Amino acid sequence: MNDLRVDKARLWDSLMTHAQIGARDDGGINREALTPEDGKGRDLFADWCRDLGMEVAVDALGNMFATYAGTDNDLLPVALGSHLDTQPCGGKFDGVLGVLAGLEVVRTLHDAGLRTRRPITVINWTSEEGSRFVPSMAASGVYAGIFSMDEARTWTDREGIGFIEALRDIGYEGAEPVGDRKFAAFLELHIEQGPVLERKGAMVGVVTGAQAMSYNTVTIRGRESHAGTTPMDMRLDPVGAFTRIAAACYAKANATKDARFTVGLIDTTPESHSTIPNTVEFTLDLRHPKADVLADLIATYEAAAEAERALGFDIERDEFGASPELVFNETCVNAVRDAVKTCGYSAMELVSGAGHDAVYVTHVCPTAMIFSPCKDGISHNPAESITPEEAEAGANVLLQAALTLADAETIPA
Ligand SMILES: [Zn+2]
Repeated sequence: MNDLRVDKARLWDSLMTHAQIGARDDGGINREALTPEDGKGRDLFADWCRDLGMEVAVDALGNMFATYAGTDNDLLPVALGSHLDTQPCGGKFDGVLGVLAGLEVVRTLHDAGLRTRRPITVINWTSEEGSRFVPSMAASGVYAGIFSMDEARTWTDREGIGFIEALRDIGYEGAEPVGDRKFAAFLELHIEQGPVLERKGAMVGVVTGAQAMSYNTVTIRGRESHAGTTPMDMRLDPVGAFTRIAAACYAKANATKDARFTVGLIDTTPESHSTIPNTVEFTLDLRHPKADVLADLIATYEAAAEAERALGFDIERDEFGASPELVFNETCVNAVRDAVKTCGYSAMELVSGAGHDAVYVTHVCPTAMIFSPCKDGISHNPAESITPEEAEAGANVLLQAALTLADAETIPA
């Protein structure tokens, strides 16, 4: 089956057809998790799977598992997938590519009248984006035991609508306990969401692991006072403390190879131009491929915060998400490497800079990822763009890696 290839036009057509669900006027997609649009996107995916005779199951958090039977269905399936939800102002490929490429793999087998030894399951993980419901990678996180079902029951959106309630509203609360379903291996194809593959002229990224990440909310409390009457040296201005802490973190991150430091959200209280705020709350996102270097970045933040505490500020850091340095399963990564060679694509190896469902699933199942380049590294944006050839290349590597793993007697953890 080494010469088996996906149908480029069919894959592209499915991506474009699916992109009509939640389409925005600016070319982007708004299909946030568990909205009616997410429901429609799921329905279409499920219909396409059933057309191939796949059995579609849904677990208690709406994770969808569409299974194409193998020749030995006592063996655990090989799973392929990603997520169908998007950011409120997202693009056509983030997540969707991995799900629909999984479907394209099955369509290719189906067309050729072929069955693999192990079954193949195409997965749509619920609420990966974390925009409507925090955290990100929510349901794959519960699947992998990172979060509990009790935690999931407390998740609400900004309007106070519960995760489970929203799941029921779109008809995707299944009975199957989350995490019960096991797989021999999991492969996720995803756009890179960064500029590296494009810059290096590689059609495919072989993802060998994921960087260590720490997501935090930091609250700095100072003293509210009048902007006009309070001399600079008599203020306890939390925005001042924020700028000094941020400057220290920038300096460290800029001087540390492969470090990532981001403040994506800043809130002041009260919000008035003529009042020195009493509180600043901001997000602190720190990442590095090596856990010990990440710890060093966090230590830099802590030292800067400690210096501000000495000035009288009250500062708290709440880590609401973290992921350790990860190395993907060797057998799975090798299957991807071999697939790249079989297909003859230009490729490079890299470490994932973003969180993905695979980053959680790898804790409980042999896992690897494949990246497709995206134009200018842009994602979470209407301008998110890949070519049909890039989508085809990623899907062909997914196909060939899946064939290898689906015929494997054992896949060591
Ligand atoms: Zn994604």
